[in-house]
Amino acid sequence: MFIYRVRRRRRRAPLSPETAAEVERLRALAKKELPPRLSELAAQHGFTYNQVRIKHNRSNWGSCSDKGNINLNLNLMRLPDRLRDYVMLHELCHLKILNHSHDFHALLESVCPDHRALQRELKEYKLI
Ligand SMILES: [Zn+2]
Repeated sequence: MFIYRVRRRRRRAPLSPETAAEVERLRALAKKELPPRLSELAAQHGFTYNQVRIKHNRSNWGSCSDKGNINLNLNLMRLPDRLRDYVMLHELCHLKILNHSHDFHALLESVCPDHRALQRELKEYKLI
């Protein structure tokens, strides 16, 4: 039940039983739905990644490593489709540009023209 505490670098209060159950529900959904959607978006926009993993943390919605691996937070399952896609497109763009430079935002703009509004909307959601 408190396995998350072991995996995290920083300490946090243990999840309530309700939240822990919700996290497991989201994890199962995320494992089923996020990899196929990421694959679809990558094919659509010409990105190639290595592996995709489903993670649970409170620090980011997704991440991309210099090895071409993408991590997606199971909390994405709580978001509307457009925000879920936005996060995945953001991480896919990091396959080509790992920082948040002007070039990165230009690339993101080319695959997701509404990215600024979507980023603002995403800030209204909190990670559990
Ligand atoms: Zn980023």
